[in-house]
Amino acid sequence: SRASARAILRRPTASWRGERIKLFINIQRVEDLEHADAQYADGIGLMRTEFLLAGRSVPDEETQFQAYDAVLRWAGQRPVTIRTFDAGGDKPVPGFTLDGEANPFLGVRGLRLCLARPEIFAVQLRALARAAIRGNLKVMFPMVTSADELEAGRKLFADIVQRLQADGIAAMLPELGIMVEVPAAALAVSSFKAAFFSIGSNDLAQYVLACDRSNGALAPLMDPLHPAVLELIARTAEHGRRAGISVSLCGDMAGDPRCLPALLNCGLRELSVNASALAQIKHTIDRLSSGGSVG
Ligand code: PEP
Ligand code: MG
Repeated sequence: SRASARAILRRPTASWRGERIKLFINIQRVEDLEHADAQYADGIGLMRTEFLLAGRSVPDEETQFQAYDAVLRWAGQRPVTIRTFDAGGDKPVPGFTLDGEANPFLGVRGLRLCLARPEIFAVQLRALARAAIRGNLKVMFPMVTSADELEAGRKLFADIVQRLQADGIAAMLPELGIMVEVPAAALAVSSFKAAFFSIGSNDLAQYVLACDRSNGALAPLMDPLHPAVLELIARTAEHGRRAGISVSLCGDMAGDPRCLPALLNCGLRELSVNASALAQIKHTIDRLSSGGSVG
């Protein structure tokens, strides 16, 4: 019932076999927070920013700053992880993404596109650098394949912060992490000097299984519980544990109770789910902790 779902939601966050499980929420736009209460989650694990690209042109720095600042205000001291523009692939943006790529999923998308269009990326990074002083902000780059891309993004960001500060504008460089959603990044995870990792299982499964995530005909094959996908998740979690770097998972499987036992067994202790799935995931962790099953 609605009342008992609310009661579960209000419980202090879950633990499993005596270990605390951190549960964050994913948001697609600022309005997603209207019906969410910050005290029932550990923070925001993924704020997608592509909604800002839905208009005719990329919004200016002030518009972006206001959006990021509103989310940080909602979260208070809790961490907010904002992902830089992840356009391309299943998220084409007229005027930003490239036309005529034979295979957009393997094309200039995510961080690749932002590095190719630094004049657009710089506006977002300026807004984020200014927002960073207003709360517990972390920034992550999507679709990272090589350590050089992370370093190129970091350099752009650091130069922007320096310039803002030189102009007397309050700004700072936030913690920088990456999405682990390209198989190469999962396999070579120790090569990245990232402050945190967030596994994007939607894209990771797509690339590992060679299944277009938007092709319904492949749905039966598109199984995030495939042992090859779980192997990469487990390796990433293991690296984080050994190196003392936080690893979360923010793809759709994090909000699917049937996937929860596998994710916990992979060693994950941080998940980020849609707000609408939070109560059910807490409930499922409770059941698993008390020896119950998922269903
Ligand atoms: C993912 O790929 O799992 C992810 C969280 O990002 P998106 O679905 O926006 O690509
Ligand atoms: Mg993705």
